[in-house]
Amino acid sequence: MSDVLRVLWTVVPRSAPQPWLNCNRCRAIRRFGSSGKIRVNANGKRLDAWLIYKCTCCDSTWNRPVLERRHVRTIDPLFLMSLRANDPELVRRLAFDSENLRRKAGLVEEFDDVVVRKEMLSESMTPARRLEILCAVPETTRLRVDRLLATELHLSRSRIRNLQNTGDLAVSSEGSRMLRTAVRDGMRVTINLAEAYDRDRIAMAARSSD
Ligand SMILES: [Zn+2]
Repeated sequence: MSDVLRVLWTVVPRSAPQPWLNCNRCRAIRRFGSSGKIRVNANGKRLDAWLIYKCTCCDSTWNRPVLERRHVRTIDPLFLMSLRANDPELVRRLAFDSENLRRKAGLVEEFDDVVVRKEMLSESMTPARRLEILCAVPETTRLRVDRLLATELHLSRSRIRNLQNTGDLAVSSEGSRMLRTAVRDGMRVTINLAEAYDRDRIAMAARSSD
């Protein structure tokens, strides 16, 4: 049996990105949040659709364009049905598309609050001497790698940094191996637990969400 504990962490962001826009009623730049509602408007054969945002201070609305003057025949019927039904999955996908939001709104604030679901991929013999964490991140988050590891493994951020400095912790991810960058889909973190006095506790935290 192997001495490696492999786990999968699915990191699901809690708060969707919010644009900062000029609010006519507040007469100030305010943060707007998604209302979760889509509006579809037909004008002959042309359709417009928007995701409705509300000012977080006064509830004034801002319509985020999803479809603009699109001919109905060029729209995927299933997509149109989801728009009309206000499908929660579609709403979530649109709300978390921060790149698109930035193109429509300019200044966008992103958040780093997440829920982490933990699954075991393969068990080690006890005690585990190596921990491998594979991260699935379906939507972008600003959460930094060091904060994710510190929170979920119940370790201090300085301990995480020390582990990396001594070569006992490695992050492999497309584009970056840095602890200070945001968590990305497909990221893999490997931690050598052989010398860690509290390795049982770390292994336990890695596999369970409590
Ligand atoms: Zn307002």
